[in-house]
Amino acid sequence: MDFQLSDEQKLIRETAREFAEREILPRVRENDRAGRFDRELASKLGEVGFLGAPVAEEYGGRGLDYIGYGLIAEEIGRADSSARTVVSVQTSLVAGSIEKWGSEEQKQKWLPRLCSGEALGCFGLTEPDTGSDAANLRTRATKTDSGWSISGQKMWISLGNFAEVALIFAQTDPVLKHRGLACFLVPTASEGFTAQEIHGKLGLRSSDTAELSLDAVEVGDDALLGGVGDGFKVAMSALENGRYSVAAGCVGICEGCVQSSIEYAKERKQFGVPLARFQLVQEMIADMILKRDASRMMVLRAGLLKDEGKPNLTETSVAKLYATESAVECANLAIQVHGGSGYVDDYPVERYLRDARVTTLYEGTSQIQKLIIGRQATGISAMLPFEES
Ligand SMILES: Cc1cc2nc3c(=O)[nH]c(=O)nc-3n(C[C@H](O)[C@H](O)[C@H](O)COP(=O)(O)OP(=O)(O)OC[C@H]3O[C@@H](n4cnc5c(N)ncnc54)[C@H](O)[C@@H]3O)c2cc1C
Repeated sequence: MDFQLSDEQKLIRETAREFAEREILPRVRENDRAGRFDRELASKLGEVGFLGAPVAEEYGGRGLDYIGYGLIAEEIGRADSSARTVVSVQTSLVAGSIEKWGSEEQKQKWLPRLCSGEALGCFGLTEPDTGSDAANLRTRATKTDSGWSISGQKMWISLGNFAEVALIFAQTDPVLKHRGLACFLVPTASEGFTAQEIHGKLGLRSSDTAELSLDAVEVGDDALLGGVGDGFKVAMSALENGRYSVAAGCVGICEGCVQSSIEYAKERKQFGVPLARFQLVQEMIADMILKRDASRMMVLRAGLLKDEGKPNLTETSVAKLYATESAVECANLAIQVHGGSGYVDDYPVERYLRDARVTTLYEGTSQIQKLIIGRQATGISAMLPFEES
């Protein structure tokens, strides 16, 4: 067991940190205030190789291992969760799915442009009536002579207003339930495809979030990603990798909370001494450090298993559950350390709290992670109260 990062991994972390300081931090507050999705920043993330980093070099990725990818997500997540969401969606949910399930033609067509940031993609699984119960989709794909006709609604889709291609999960035969699901690569310029921005989010304000509507959108057979009936597997494999990057991003939030709190506690004086002299303030900092370190270890364990090609469903859910809940708790504590100053956006900690809050919801809620962990441990699924295991 080696707790040291390799020289290459250290370099990746340094490069990601420098990028975040140079390109993200100067604009993060204004983007958050304006609720502006920063398309230019998304392109820069692509130019520097942070979109699709684990994708093979022959398809335009960097061929990085998962530890390296996690370090990128952590550093970008520390600076701005909205930018980290672009990294996660583009890399794990979209490019990763195309690399794993796509035909050679689909890979050649989409991966280089997705990895460079020239094109954005989105992942359309959730629907207005279908969230955690992802097998129960209402969007329908009907076979036609020339391919498929897709109709339905998708809800809460990150990057949906800017994406050039959408992974759309749809039911081909309701009788087959989750075995009837299929995933399609749908160009968003297709006739009958519309996207609408969702406003008023608590946090992640500079991340684009859309409601998608598909009204008899026609695609060819070559739009299928994987086979008919593979849709559920495509979604679950994408989420297993997406959860890892969300967890890594949350380690970044915890780290940001720790660093901002230490600096503030050493600088700010009350009762004639720095806040850091008070044991109760040190306790808050120690609690944050504990959560940060434990989260980081869990993320590294999941990343190592991924790099070794070993099963990691439980370990990834453990990391996602713990790191996301820790990010919320650390951000809450960090605001406490900063006092009133923590309540306004002169410091990053109030944004950390607003941005961390969604991470316990998307890519599987905390309750769903617990149900996955419990099912893996007992062999019995409790997703449905009366489900046969
Ligand atoms: C900002 C944002 C971005 C998003 N981006 C995307 C995206 O890019 N692509 C995409 O497809 N989706 C995306 N989502 C959707 C997200 O994945 C869902 O919101 C999430 O899966 C939860 O689904 P839901 O909102 O329908 O909640 P529900 O499933 O209705 O859950 C509501 C509550 O009930 C609990 N619950 C549900 N079922 C059970 C159960 N069996 N046992 C115990 N508790 C249960 C949940 O844990 C939760 O607390 C995004 C969401 C947000 C807010």
